[in-house]
This record gives sequence, C-alpha cells and structure tokens, in this order.
Amino acid sequence: MVVALNREALFSDTTMRKWDYAKHAYEPYAVPAEWHCPLLTDLWVVVNCASCGTTQEYGRCYTSPTIHNGYGLGFGVCRECYELDRSEGITTNNKVKEVM
Ligand SMILES: [Zn+2]
Repeated sequence: MVVALNREALFSDTTMRKWDYAKHAYEPYAVPAEWHCPLLTDLWVVVNCASCGTTQEYGRCYTSPTIHNGYGLGFGVCRECYELDRSEGITTNNKVKEVM
C-alpha cells in the first residue's frame, strides 16, 4: 500500500502523543496551553521543550524520541530530555530482549 503524504499534512497535525517504551504503545500527551511547541518553525524562534517546558531556540532543540504527532514526527525537546528519553528507551528495550 502506498500512502501519499504532503509536507503540509505531516506538519499540520499538532496532536501530541507519547511513546511508552514499556507498553510499546502511544499514550495521549499534552503540554500546558501557554507552551509554544511547534513541529516546525524558524531556527531562531524561542520555543518550549515539549517535555519539561524550558525555553530555547528551536535550532537548539533535539527531536524527541517519544513525543510525536499522529504521523510520527517528533517535537522539539531540550538535550537533557532527549538523553533521558533515549536512555529509558535503550534500557527498556534491553530488558525486553533479555525476556525474549
Ligand atoms: Zn526538556
């Protein structure tokens, strides 16, 4: 099956959901209304980390490994949240492999 997607459709979906490594499924996720967490903007625009809310320029953000829109595109997060999410994912995935 081939699904044609255009850029506008991919980035216009701002619904947030968070990947739960242990459940291996997405959970609904939301940030406070006053946070500015765009999927795509100019690099110098100040945004909030989609995980902890700290502010930084969009160009300094990392792509979240867990907070995605409906198409799987990651929202911007700070370095600390990125590393924490990656570490949790690696740890959880290793535990799953040990069980299998
Ligand atoms: Zn953060």
